[in-house]
Amino acid sequence: MPCPTVIRLVRFIHVPRKFRRQVTNTFLFARDGYQCQYCGRPRSDLRHREFLTRDHVLPLSRGGDNSWTNCVTSCSSCNCRKGSRLPREAGLTLRCAPHEPHMVHLVWAVRRLTPLQRKYVVEFFGAGVAAVLDR
Ligand SMILES: [Zn+2]
Repeated sequence: MPCPTVIRLVRFIHVPRKFRRQVTNTFLFARDGYQCQYCGRPRSDLRHREFLTRDHVLPLSRGGDNSWTNCVTSCSSCNCRKGSRLPREAGLTLRCAPHEPHMVHLVWAVRRLTPLQRKYVVEFFGAGVAAVLDR
């Protein structure tokens, strides 16, 4: 049976904000390009026994939360060095301020798109999304 490569949504079903706002490591790492936001190393440059983690900029122990603006991707070494301190207290600098991402961009970023699907997504949503897809 023939199967379409692209299915166009003609009716949009609103997803409640509380579901969109939840931060998962899969989406967090995708938002940050799979790169430590302190030392800048991508996952492929991590050493043996190092891995990507979720860092709370303002630590949970000091009143921080799991919001998009308080969570960043950090390698295990930077996260360990930072501990329950603020970045500046640990001598670390964030590469960019964490922000709430466009969830649709993230959904694409963690999927494997075929070249045809990629072409359609870029044509339909604009070239700005290509940067997210190409990470
Ligand atoms: Zn790091």
